[in-house]
Amino acid sequence: MIVVMKKGATRDQIDHMVVRVEEMNLKAHVIEGTERTVIAAIGEKREQAKQSLESGSGVDEVLPILAPYKVASREVKPEPTEVVVGSLHVGAGRLGIIAGPCSVEDEEQIMSTATAVKESGATALRGGAFKPRTSPYSFQGLKEQGLKLLAAARDLTGLAIVTEVMSPEDVPLVAEYADVLQIGARNMQNYRLLEAVGKSTRGVLLKRGPSATLDELLLAAEYVLNEGNPNVMLCERGIRTFESHTRFTLPLATVVYLHEKTHLPIVVDPSHGTGHTYLVPDMAAASVAAGADGLILEVHPDPERALSDGFQSLTFEQFGQTMQKVRAIADVVGRRI
Ligand code: PEP
Ligand code: MN
Repeated sequence: MIVVMKKGATRDQIDHMVVRVEEMNLKAHVIEGTERTVIAAIGEKREQAKQSLESGSGVDEVLPILAPYKVASREVKPEPTEVVVGSLHVGAGRLGIIAGPCSVEDEEQIMSTATAVKESGATALRGGAFKPRTSPYSFQGLKEQGLKLLAAARDLTGLAIVTEVMSPEDVPLVAEYADVLQIGARNMQNYRLLEAVGKSTRGVLLKRGPSATLDELLLAAEYVLNEGNPNVMLCERGIRTFESHTRFTLPLATVVYLHEKTHLPIVVDPSHGTGHTYLVPDMAAASVAAGADGLILEVHPDPERALSDGFQSLTFEQFGQTMQKVRAIADVVGRRI
């Protein structure tokens, strides 16, 4: 249920309703909108609870939440959410640009990339230290050493760090260095991991599983939100289809659909979504045209020698050119980097 407070309801009235909701063994999520505050009361719905909450002082109305996901839904929060993590602003008119290598490889690679992407207008640095690889024989990432290099790149450039965490046990370690914890596509439905990042105060970039529906993605986001972490960004990174001309199929209608259903910001990953460098610049521009709130792009100083995903990585120069296109489209659709 949503307890919609009257315009101008006082802090005491809001706090009182939180206590009332919790007394009914429901979880209370307070969402402060620009116009008024609502309290999402999550748990088993009972008609009696609805009537009892409706009589609270300062309460306007109590409504059921129809969507299966609750805190993520537009019903609870009609205004778009802006996630702000250090230098990265994503959502509500702000376009975040997360760029960097697939994997952190060495100091020279990450420092030069951080400097180059910052110069071209990136607002955050990506780089995997814990890598989910299809084969156990492929490069698995530099782990804590990689995290230290990312933190050094943040010291150098001021860019917020986005990096993947693969297991609940690693959350404290990765959160010590990172600003945004990336949940990889393969882990979208790892519910213990979602709960662990939900307990953290870092931003969360939740990637869509290649065979997950959008309802499943939103319910995965709900796991994070339900633990109290509101800083969730959703990421379309391509899905599995019968088509083989691209690594995955990148459905941009996702952006429009999700904006209808959720207030959370939507990031698009045209690198994994296409799997070919030459497709990335136009699909990045198309993502912004479709209303994306952010992009995550793989950039490498020497893609040919990259230890992972070189075939879909942009050179520094290509990233600069992509940013010019993206800026032009962002202007047209009213997004500010
Ligand atoms: C990545 O961002 O490098 C990555 C592994 O992405 P995904 O989880 O979308 O495959
Ligand atoms: Mn990659």
